[in-house]
Amino acid sequence: MTIDPWRITGQAEIDSYVGSRVELAVLLANCLTATSAHGRHVAPPRSGDERLAAITAQSAAGRSPGTLTAADADQLAGIAADLRPAFGAGERILEVAAQLNHLLVRHGAVPNLHGDSDRPLVLAFHRADSSLVDAWAADMGTALAMVIGVGQAARLGACQADRCCLVFFDTTRNASRRFCDLSCQNRAKATAYRARRRA
Ligand SMILES: [Zn+2]
Repeated sequence: MTIDPWRITGQAEIDSYVGSRVELAVLLANCLTATSAHGRHVAPPRSGDERLAAITAQSAAGRSPGTLTAADADQLAGIAADLRPAFGAGERILEVAAQLNHLLVRHGAVPNLHGDSDRPLVLAFHRADSSLVDAWAADMGTALAMVIGVGQAARLGACQADRCCLVFFDTTRNASRRFCDLSCQNRAKATAYRARRRA
């Protein structure tokens, strides 16, 4: 069950942009920085080419990486590592907010209306002449900050199953999602069941 996006930020018009940037942060954190997934150890990509391939593989589902280079992919790995703590932050939220604020300054985040006579105006969070990496970082950082800033930090989730550090954007009605997907949910259930049987 998903909720109407406006329930998250209260502003329907900016939601598809903000939501897509939160999802981009999820995608990059998972494909560039995860060290475990679904109960298994995974090795994050280490070279620019490997990172670019990982992003491109994930992006096949909709987002075109455009003119992304291996050097860009290396920088995005660092940004993804900076954004990752925003997911499942819990008690660390003040520390996370300070880190996000630094990232927004570092990448020149600024509200900026993009568009022209052929395209409707959209509020982005980077200058039109930003580098692609700065633009992605500013947009993702602002989107995460907006979710946190409307009291919805709990929607930036981290999988609670054993040996899985994948993150996700929880759009369930009551922000109750605990796992990255059904396989981890079933695995955690089975673990809890075995623990009860032993007890
Ligand atoms: Zn998981």
